[in-house]
Amino acid sequence: MKIKLLLLTLTFVLSNSALAINKCDELAAHPNNKDNPQGVKGVASDDIDRVPAIIACFEALVDEPNNQRFQYQVGRALDQNGNYTHAIKWYKKAAEQGYAYAQNDLGYLYVMARGVERDYQTAVSWYRKAAEQGNASAQRHLGIMYYEGHGVEQDDKTAVTWFRKAAEQGDVDAQVDLADMYKHGTGVKQDYKTAIVWYRKAAEQGDYTAQGQLGFLYYKGYGVEQDYKTAISWWRKAAKKGNPLALYNLGFMYANGYGVEEDSSKAMEFLKKAARFGSPDAKDWLIIGGGPGGYVAAIRAAQLGKKVACVEMYRHNGYGVENRPSLGGTCLNVGCIPSKVLLESSEHLDKLRHLGEHGISINSATMDIKKMIERKENISAQLTVGIEQLFKANKIDWIQGRGKLIAKDKVSVIDFDGNVTEYAASNVILASGSVPIDIPVAKMDGKYIVDSTGALNFTSVPKRLGVIGAGVIGLELGSVWHRLTSQVTILEASDKLLPMFDQEVAKDAGRQFKQQGLDIKLGSAVKKAEVIDNEVVVTYEDKKGEHTQIFDKLLVCVGRRPNTADLIGESVGVKLDERGFIIVDEHCQTGVAGVYAIGDSVRGPMLAHKASEEGVMVAEIIDGQAGHCNLDLIPSIIYTHPEIAAIGKTEEQLKAEGVNYKKGDFPFAANGRAKAMDADKGRVKILADADTDEILGGHIVGPMASELIQELVVAMEYKAASEDIARICHGHPGLGEAIHEAALAVDGRALHKVNK
Ligand code: FAD
Ligand code: NAD
Repeated sequence: MKIKLLLLTLTFVLSNSALAINKCDELAAHPNNKDNPQGVKGVASDDIDRVPAIIACFEALVDEPNNQRFQYQVGRALDQNGNYTHAIKWYKKAAEQGYAYAQNDLGYLYVMARGVERDYQTAVSWYRKAAEQGNASAQRHLGIMYYEGHGVEQDDKTAVTWFRKAAEQGDVDAQVDLADMYKHGTGVKQDYKTAIVWYRKAAEQGDYTAQGQLGFLYYKGYGVEQDYKTAISWWRKAAKKGNPLALYNLGFMYANGYGVEEDSSKAMEFLKKAARFGSPDAKDWLIIGGGPGGYVAAIRAAQLGKKVACVEMYRHNGYGVENRPSLGGTCLNVGCIPSKVLLESSEHLDKLRHLGEHGISINSATMDIKKMIERKENISAQLTVGIEQLFKANKIDWIQGRGKLIAKDKVSVIDFDGNVTEYAASNVILASGSVPIDIPVAKMDGKYIVDSTGALNFTSVPKRLGVIGAGVIGLELGSVWHRLTSQVTILEASDKLLPMFDQEVAKDAGRQFKQQGLDIKLGSAVKKAEVIDNEVVVTYEDKKGEHTQIFDKLLVCVGRRPNTADLIGESVGVKLDERGFIIVDEHCQTGVAGVYAIGDSVRGPMLAHKASEEGVMVAEIIDGQAGHCNLDLIPSIIYTHPEIAAIGKTEEQLKAEGVNYKKGDFPFAANGRAKAMDADKGRVKILADADTDEILGGHIVGPMASELIQELVVAMEYKAASEDIARICHGHPGLGEAIHEAALAVDGRALHKVNK
């Protein structure tokens, strides 16, 4: 094994601690490294979980002087894994010893503001050091800094000098840059002939921008004899690679019979392909995925005047619906909205059963399940068609099919008929969402053992419904079918209910679920689920031993995983972590310039509003604006009865972080509106910094928690103190008064409860 040999050699060469060497050997022996052709770099970059071990391994090795190469390799591995702060540390070690690759990459991190504040001057100084040593990439980067006037006085002539140095070393991008300077007479005398020389060098290496430009110069007869045929041949090469301008030009040539026989159908074919981007010279963006991340990014991009296309492959199947291509992603088709529709319908039925106290008696209330599901489908269809209309109004192109990023600026799409088309784009946003996690002990069959989509589409009430996982889906969909008379048993592996939520609030909710008759069995690990004679026989184990329970249907909802399989070509350089999430920085930039990823396919909570927020942020960042998404203030809401809503830190987190905090809570039992609504269970809890009074967390269990939480979200975004809310007049009688009282309670002065 190459890596092992390399490290063994190092063992002799370097006089470092045996421990570190052992760690290196351990890494080298890792099964993933078998036949790893990339050697040290491969080891370091291929598994983010091992990064601490990798650092430990290299830390000792690089103590030796003259080990810049290793320092650089560690930096690069960290850089590729999105760990920029550490990458900078290692790049610096190598750069300061004069290692040109490290100097160049360090300069790039300063330009891109990754792991450091953006600092063009420092970037220029590192680029210069590397460029002066002959590093072609740094020479081109330095040229760009002079051309843009970033960190240096704008100076086209010096830009040309550096582009030339890099171009002469064979840097294709620099060759195109230099050719552009000659073509436009920027920093040099305009000279089409020399422009052609440099475009040709890049074009022959496959660069489609250069191929397109060569075509243009032949078409115009600039610097060469006008020659339509040669123009066409270069445009054909560029069009094959998805250059939209070349596609348009080919259409134009066929339409006019320039250099080819006039052929309107061929012209149409090329123009249609080009027109997918609205106009041939559009600065197009491509978005893969039309869920709340992707479609929102597309709409914001269009508002910013960009030509944008969104690739979406989803075909909706539901009650009375077959294979209808649909935008809106998981959220609108089989997630947020359909589940909320069923929660609403089932809650109406449940409320009818509890109207006696109001003096209302109902002899019988029945539910037509098919009608309920049909209503869900209708609402989902109205909203997804609404997105289609928004796309049309915003001139967003919907490309129907499965997209794959095959180069940083190229996406291939296989449509529903199996045709493959390549599209070019200056920026790509990956928004491919997530899919349910399946577990080997309970393989889903779509009939008896189902995922959330299956449980949204039962056409009759299962008498006994088993649910694996008491997370958000288990509680929401478990509640739906329980209200519709299913006996619901939820098997949860963890011995805590909703461990990510504030435990006081979670326990309060747990008590209410129990009173309603939801059977939640904590600390219960499913061992086996088998379908026998139209029933699902589930074996699970808890502290008391093994048990068997029989259900008519089993819902498996143990979390979701990023939908990133076969989304990105290997050579593109966009990295996934070990769980399949696309690695991005705080601005959703992947490690590859121009490629971004958002929503469920990247780190952070898997929530629709988070995906949309990132979509807007990325669109604005690509547009050159300052975009931001505060991952610390994404509200979490569970739409059960009672509703549970949270923002910011839980009490458990504050304790673990050693934060000095104050707490104020207020029960809905003392809120007049909640009493009138017959919904006086639960509480509002506010946590604030003991010294500054800034609100650090807000937790609600009770009526309309989903709406009430928004006040705390706004307050926290404005860094409000609890005193700020305490001093705001809240309308009476209103559920919002519970927030007011909880804020007063932080200071021990709630008015409608006894302060302790
Ligand atoms: P998605 O909505 O998953 O959209 C991704 C889209 O990309 C999909 O349409 C998919 O077809 C498409 N796609 C993927 N790969 C490709 C490809 N290669 N080519 C073309 N198209 C591709 N969140 C909330 O905030 N509130 C809720 O109440 C809520 N309820 C939920 C209830 C359920 C039952 C479920 C399952 C989820 C719920 N969620 C909720 C989570 C929410 O749906 C997701 O967080 C959200 O949809 C993520 O948005 P996204 O754009 O990242 O991905
Ligand atoms: P989840 O992460 O909310 O809950 C999964 C639960 O399954 C956890 O409690 C976990 O401990 C448990 N679990 C995991 N493996 C298990 C096993 N082998 N046996 C028993 N229990 C096991 O995941 P989910 O409920 O599937 O929802 C997926 C995602 O969808 C969530 O992350 C959520 O963000 C999103 N969602 C949001 C909403 C909402 O915002 N209202 C609604 C539905 C879904």
